[in-house]
Amino acid sequence: MPADPAANPRFGLTGFATDGSTSLAPLDADARCRLDSAVELLSGLRLAVLTGAGLSTDSGIPDYRGPSSPPRNPMTYQQFVGDEALRRRYWARNHVGWRHLRHADPNPGHAAVARLEQRGLITGLITQNVDRLHSTAGSVNVIDLHGTYDRVVCLNCRTPFRRAEIAELLEKLNPGYLEREADAGDVAPDADADVDDTADFVIAPCPVCGGMLKPDFVYFGENVPKDRVTEAYRMVDEAGALLVAGSSLTVMSGLRFVRHAHKAGKPVVIINRGATRGDDLATLLIDAGVSESLTYLAERLPALEN
Ligand SMILES: [Zn+2]
Repeated sequence: MPADPAANPRFGLTGFATDGSTSLAPLDADARCRLDSAVELLSGLRLAVLTGAGLSTDSGIPDYRGPSSPPRNPMTYQQFVGDEALRRRYWARNHVGWRHLRHADPNPGHAAVARLEQRGLITGLITQNVDRLHSTAGSVNVIDLHGTYDRVVCLNCRTPFRRAEIAELLEKLNPGYLEREADAGDVAPDADADVDDTADFVIAPCPVCGGMLKPDFVYFGENVPKDRVTEAYRMVDEAGALLVAGSSLTVMSGLRFVRHAHKAGKPVVIINRGATRGDDLATLLIDAGVSESLTYLAERLPALEN
């Protein structure tokens, strides 16, 4: 089946968001040359794709590990469950920040990955991003390795909730808070808005059991659920190569898949602005714009023979 970005009504024929909010910068000669090598290397192989925060920067979500990002110290799981003041602060900032992710649109990089899947060129997609933009762009076989911003879970009874439902509870408990803090400047990829006035924020208890609620993503100091990791390894095992896009591979949760593919003798192509922790294991490194590079690849990778 030929690539048909128009199959997804969010995007025009070029793969640009139809509202024109995103445009692609030209690739330089070196990047094009490397991408042509990638096309040669990856032709005829089904790919597993691993993506990170560098893919969503073109959707207006800053990469807190990017070269120009302010230093941040994300809260650990232990801090969240062990310290009520920190938990209050976390929920207040998340209450403002999650809306930012909700209103973000996928960019041409997300669209390119969705087209690769529609053409049967990938075994699946593992993303470290919690923004769900791959799913919004039309990707189907997606593993949200670190969870998603739009779910909340009770740590006591494990009941899952939609973030929107908890938002209603929080608004009732904190009338006027959003209006006061709505213009918070920076919002990190984990929905952490830059809000300081958090001391009086009232946290919502679990509507079912009164237990402690937590946004359903993986914190620092917390492990990715085992079945999710197994499923991701399976995607890599089924693939002939691994394509990494927009991840510096700083955390082991992503790097292990690069090690796994490398150990199995499969080509690893990394597209990222700046160095990554997986550079030594890569067959080919492409230090260029992620959306631009994925669009370039999606346009040139040939159909599989069978
Ligand atoms: Zn509960």
